[in-house]
Amino acid sequence: MARSVSYVSAAKLVSMARGNRVAVIDVRDEERSYQAHIAGSHHFASGSFAARMPELVRATSGKDTLVFHCALSQVRGPSCARMFSDYLSESKEDSGIKNIMVLERGYNGWEISGQPVCHCKDAPCKGRGVVYLPIGSTFLVIAIILWTIG
Ligand SMILES: [Zn+2]
Repeated sequence: MARSVSYVSAAKLVSMARGNRVAVIDVRDEERSYQAHIAGSHHFASGSFAARMPELVRATSGKDTLVFHCALSQVRGPSCARMFSDYLSESKEDSGIKNIMVLERGYNGWEISGQPVCHCKDAPCKGRGVVYLPIGSTFLVIAIILWTIG
C-alpha cells in the first residue's frame, strides 16, 4: 500500500508531538553541524539517506508518524520522505508507520516561528524540548527537583 506524503505546519507538529508517537527526521546534510536542530530529532543526511533507510526503520520503532524536513523542505525533505514511503511500501515487514509527512518551510521556518531548538551534538538528539517531554515525565522531573532541594 502506497502511503501518500502530506505536509504539516510547525504549530501542528508541536501539538501532534505531544502524543509521543511522532519522530522528526532531519535530512539536512552538513548544515546540521553548524546550525541548531529540532529537539529530539533524528539525523539522516540526504546524501546517505537511501543506504540508511533500514536503520531509520529500526530507529523509529514504536512511532506511527514520521515528519521529514531539511532546511526549507523544498527538495531534500520531500524527496527523502517519498523515497522512504516507497521503501516501506515495498517492504514485507510492517513497520507500524502510518503517516509520512513533511514539515512545511523546513528547519528555517521552524526556527523563525520561535519553536524550541537544540544545539547538542548527539545523534539522535536526546533533547527533551517542551515538545517531546510527555506529561508523566514532567511530573517526575518536578518530583526529583523537589526531592533534591527538600
Ligand atoms: Zn539536540
